[in-house]
Amino acid sequence: MSSIEKHTFQAEIQQLLNIVIHSLYTDKEIFVRELISNAADACEKLRFTQASGTAIRQAEIPATISLSADETTGTITITDTGIGMTHEELVKNLGTIAHSGTKAFLKQLAEDKKPDVGLIGQFGVGFYSAFMAAKRVTVQSRSFVESEPGWQWVSEGTGGYEITPADDLPRGTKITLELKDEAKEFAEKGALERIIKRYSSFVPFPIDLNGEKVNTVQALWTRNKSEIKEEDYNQFYQFIGHDHENPLLRLHFNADAPIAIQSLLFVPAHNLETMGMGRIDSEVNLYCRKVLIQAKAKGLFPDWLRFLKGVVDSEDLPLNISRETMQDTSLLQKLNKALTGRFLKFLNEQAEQSPETYVKFYTEYQRFLKEGVVTDFTHREALGKLLRFESSSTEKGKLTSLADYVSRMGSDQKEIYCLQAPNREAAESSPYFEVFRERKFEVLFLYDSWDEFVTEHLGQFDGKTLKPAEKADLHLNDPKKEGALSEDAAKALAGWMKESLGDRVGEVRSSQRLVDSPAVIVDADKYMTSSMRRMLKAMKQEEGGAGAPEEKHDLEINPAHPIIVRLEQMRQKDAALAAQVAEQVLDNARVAAGILEDPRAMLKRMNQLLERVLA
Ligand code: ADP
Ligand code: MG
Repeated sequence: MSSIEKHTFQAEIQQLLNIVIHSLYTDKEIFVRELISNAADACEKLRFTQASGTAIRQAEIPATISLSADETTGTITITDTGIGMTHEELVKNLGTIAHSGTKAFLKQLAEDKKPDVGLIGQFGVGFYSAFMAAKRVTVQSRSFVESEPGWQWVSEGTGGYEITPADDLPRGTKITLELKDEAKEFAEKGALERIIKRYSSFVPFPIDLNGEKVNTVQALWTRNKSEIKEEDYNQFYQFIGHDHENPLLRLHFNADAPIAIQSLLFVPAHNLETMGMGRIDSEVNLYCRKVLIQAKAKGLFPDWLRFLKGVVDSEDLPLNISRETMQDTSLLQKLNKALTGRFLKFLNEQAEQSPETYVKFYTEYQRFLKEGVVTDFTHREALGKLLRFESSSTEKGKLTSLADYVSRMGSDQKEIYCLQAPNREAAESSPYFEVFRERKFEVLFLYDSWDEFVTEHLGQFDGKTLKPAEKADLHLNDPKKEGALSEDAAKALAGWMKESLGDRVGEVRSSQRLVDSPAVIVDADKYMTSSMRRMLKAMKQEEGGAGAPEEKHDLEINPAHPIIVRLEQMRQKDAALAAQVAEQVLDNARVAAGILEDPRAMLKRMNQLLERVLA
């Protein structure tokens, strides 16, 4: 017939097809994703055209996608009632390098030792993936434009394609794949259904297979918030999150600048990492106009937000981009910045508007926020606002923010004080707490072993330094004078104690910070706190350095404490007993500092002292 037109593929397209046809690789099934993605695009374009008021052919036919699989003939068809293609469009879209992605894709394949043809869709040449599975592809298409006739495009992938008129076609595109022998399995209905579900669950158009509806979950994130029921959100979350519970938090938001984002993010009710799952991976999928670009996308969020699940859809993403190059595009950085900023803002809002939910969130996920403080300089300050601690001004079990702490600071208080302790009782009875209680300065109680490290990294909040209580350079306003040793007597006692304790201490001196305790360990090292010391010690022991010399710490004594006062008298009368008491005072101070290594060693002395008391 004279109406058959023969066309040759452009050189690059032919080169691409040769690779696609001949490469053996595992992800063959992605051709289904690519063709459905094109069908969904065509439906999307139709929707847009219709919405903008343009007249379209068969306006009464809604945009849908249907597939059929015939095992006996080994064929698959993918039909959409989308925008369709004119003759000119068929030639341009399915045979020329209309997309700059062709060259980029070829280059990528050439550079890769194991070419990953699965990336084909991301380079904007997804249509050609049909030839991975089909020996012959027939495209029948009719444009939405009323005056345009229908056309049939046929190709076997090599050489070129033929176009013939096809008059009676309805609007849209039907693609028929005659499968290669080794790809016949795709015509099995169950197999095809699994692939459709895997890649296209959120395609916002109905998809059916051999007349049955396949996709049930819709692109929820693109819908108006007011139309979505709580239950829809929960179902959607449970589906994408593989969770049987409802999420703890949900953020559904759109942004236009600096980058277009439609996003639906969830925080699971439970933190899987603390449930023994090991390190988890982010489960946020990246979409571009409802078509999956990358499942569990890397780099969308900082690491410390890896507990998030959900969807990010950005129409600003070019489809002609590979996963590898995406890692270092400024686009991904822009997305990351916008998403992280928005999520942090959301957490702040939650903390203000529903403090109870926020506390639940904090209880589950505080370690992630703290990891962020330590590892993510950019968001350190914002994360500081989200931290919560018990403090000397809160009730037991109630938490305060640093901002609230600062708002309570008096004009004579310059720093934010933190005290690491195993629990509230230990914190409140710590000798290090005494000066703060006396001066009515609030102290944050840090119970998590990470906290000291975290507050040190945070460094400052609202211009105020976070200071370990042990390191605070604070004196009592009004040291107790009544019955206290004179300055000279205290000095003399300190000198004697140093002599008596010998190498077990550094310096001994009179303290300005104690109220109820006889003595306290103060480290000569300005920065080292007792918990850091414990950590170092543990590390040294692991290295097998058990024989390392004991560290020496300074001891400060309370000249008004009865033990200290009487010790001064006793050393004149019974030097041996006084020496034993001095040892015990030192050991007690080390217990309070959490650095006494083996409490059993002091039991003998303790028993001897008890014997003396009861004599
Ligand atoms: P991409 O989808 O990234 O543009 P493809 O190679 O998948 O790249 O498709 C090339 C072009 O062919 C599309 O941009 C579109 O214009 C056209 N096309 C493919 N399939 C269809 C279809 N089902 N309906 C209408 N146009 C289509
Ligand atoms: Mg495509």
